[in-house]
Amino acid sequence: MQFDLLIRNGQLFDAAAGRVGRFDVAVYRGRVAAVEASIDPGTAAQVVDAAGAYVTPGLVDLHTHVYHGVTYWGIQAAPVAARTGVTTWLDVGSAGAWNFGGFRDFIVQPSVARIYALLNISGIGLIAPSWEHWNLNYLDEALAIKVAEANRDIIIGIKARIDKNTVGANGLEPLRRARRVADACGMPLMAHIAHGPPEVDGVLALLREGDILTHCCTGGSMRLIDADGRPLEVARRAREAGVILDIGHGAGSFDFEVAEAMLRHGMPPDVISSDIHQLSIRGPMFDLPTTLSKFLALGMPLAEVFAAATAKPAAAMGLAGQVGTLAVGAHADIALFREEQGDYNFDDVFNHRRSGTRRLVCEGTWLGGRRLPTLPEPPPAPWIV
Ligand SMILES: [Zn+2]
Repeated sequence: MQFDLLIRNGQLFDAAAGRVGRFDVAVYRGRVAAVEASIDPGTAAQVVDAAGAYVTPGLVDLHTHVYHGVTYWGIQAAPVAARTGVTTWLDVGSAGAWNFGGFRDFIVQPSVARIYALLNISGIGLIAPSWEHWNLNYLDEALAIKVAEANRDIIIGIKARIDKNTVGANGLEPLRRARRVADACGMPLMAHIAHGPPEVDGVLALLREGDILTHCCTGGSMRLIDADGRPLEVARRAREAGVILDIGHGAGSFDFEVAEAMLRHGMPPDVISSDIHQLSIRGPMFDLPTTLSKFLALGMPLAEVFAAATAKPAAAMGLAGQVGTLAVGAHADIALFREEQGDYNFDDVFNHRRSGTRRLVCEGTWLGGRRLPTLPEPPPAPWIV
């Protein structure tokens, strides 16, 4: 057999397929065609020597904002994909029912990366930095259902940001509406938490198995640990019931002290995602590999860190077997990382700093077997100072 591409001699981390160790990965027509301890380099048109590097499925980022040019937070996915190994992007709520058409036509359709979406329960999506649930007239359930049903190839769930700045005086009503829409469509629901009111108990009471709680390590008033640094009982119960805890680092949502407390008490995050957007891309979040490196600094094992950015988010999106794995037959989305060693400082967004000795640096990204070209980073949006 003549393969198109062979990546050999690397250290593979494929949690979904249960393969961790020295494997060669061969690609044919955009799909993984063979994974063996050793594959003859003479069988491939192109050979990449990954000796000394980590080979992972293309990363799956469960929390991103890529509706650039239309929404406050949106960035361009393509330049970041090429330099970070993130091949599958879940945009969480940038588009609502009134502007999803543009998201499909102008963002998803021309994209080199794989982009999926959670539909914002607010019709205006994330046009502005906040306030999208202040006016309940924006939260048209029937319309949201209609748009979600008509775009099932892209929309895989419903999003609601629940915090004081986003809901105003409307409390949990936006989340109740999102719950009903998600149920009507048979889709998962992602809720964001930050500073209340509302309180986090009320949010968790509306989430079930397969739903996602993002910003699970927020240091805001809705945090998941108590004053003694112990995980809230309601959070533990939600996790045991199958609610997925997602990091969503962002520019205001990651607190090392909360993350440490949760790791210490046996509640690691299920998914490590970036919440990359116009603000967070400028640091201290920067990108998903940097966020993964922070969890290495906290002592989370490398294989678990990679699983939390490949197998687990892919499963949460209902895409297991297609992305987030290099099993035979999966999309040939591949990332290559080198682990650099030195003395590094990592910052959260609550003025805490931790030091680490390891940093993951992406050295190549392939999507469907094609290497993504390096692209120039666009300038920040005019409102970013
Ligand atoms: Zn976000």
